[in-house]
Amino acid sequence: MIAEINTLTSYKYCQKTFQNAISCVGVGLHSGQKVNMTFCPADVDTGIVFKRIDVTDRNNLIPALYNNVSDTRLNSCISNDAGVYVSTIEHLMAALHGFGVSNAIIEVDGPEAPLLDGSALDYVTLFECAGVIEQDAPLRAVKIKKEVLFEDQKGAEVCLYPAEEGLEMDFVIDFVKSRAIGRQEYSITLTKRSFKDSIAYARTFGFAHEVEALRAMGLARGGTLENCIVVEGDKVLNPEGLRSENEFVVHKTLDAVGDLYQLGMPVIGHFCGVKSGHAHTNALLRKLMADKSAYEIVEMDAYMDELAAGRRKTA
Ligand SMILES: [Zn+2]
Repeated sequence: MIAEINTLTSYKYCQKTFQNAISCVGVGLHSGQKVNMTFCPADVDTGIVFKRIDVTDRNNLIPALYNNVSDTRLNSCISNDAGVYVSTIEHLMAALHGFGVSNAIIEVDGPEAPLLDGSALDYVTLFECAGVIEQDAPLRAVKIKKEVLFEDQKGAEVCLYPAEEGLEMDFVIDFVKSRAIGRQEYSITLTKRSFKDSIAYARTFGFAHEVEALRAMGLARGGTLENCIVVEGDKVLNPEGLRSENEFVVHKTLDAVGDLYQLGMPVIGHFCGVKSGHAHTNALLRKLMADKSAYEIVEMDAYMDELAAGRRKTA
């Protein structure tokens, strides 16, 4: 009974895992390969760990952590010391972040997570079917204490700065060469509800003129109009059009929500991305974690109690 399991926890903010295992099948965006994936419940303090069940001669476990990220060309790919990898994990990581799943073993029988419809909507449905339950262990978070910024030479920028509670997200994109996208801005406070209602639907996108070059690099082999928004010049090629007029920037926000969860726990802070991608967010996380004065790990129960006491004092 779920109710009985839930009453076991002695924490207000606790770790969570799946109640039941649940599977899906799909094609990887870049490999074009069909993969089966199963989300399994896991013990407290496991974190999010991928298990390549098709690999049996080496360590096949890959924790989904920023310092295991090995490739950020158009996706987030993680690998372990044995060279075993899984790519395009960002959309499902975003869904795990949105649902507050702390612990899960994700079994895959291929090198890339399935793209499904290019958004995180199917993960929302899967997670709701599997159920997410509370575990008797305190939830910890990374509290940002001072601004950390990473920028490149081309005007892309990512930063994290302090906020009192939760995760605020701001994203700006500016595709000057494509009027179909143009400049878009988006802001949201991440909650399970806001994730489900406002971010999960946004699909990945690409440019028709880049497809051949990407395929020559071994990328985008599974991308179709069924799982990607394809832009050509000023036009969106998908016959059904966009799901919202700002679907592009919302998708970039979704990607960042997924990449930030590679810290292994939720963030208390404010994220800002300007024309940035997976590589920038990963560089930002590495810079953040390399500077012990920029963050602290807090237990959410104690932190929220202190915050409430501080607010009462100043009221
Ligand atoms: Zn994406």
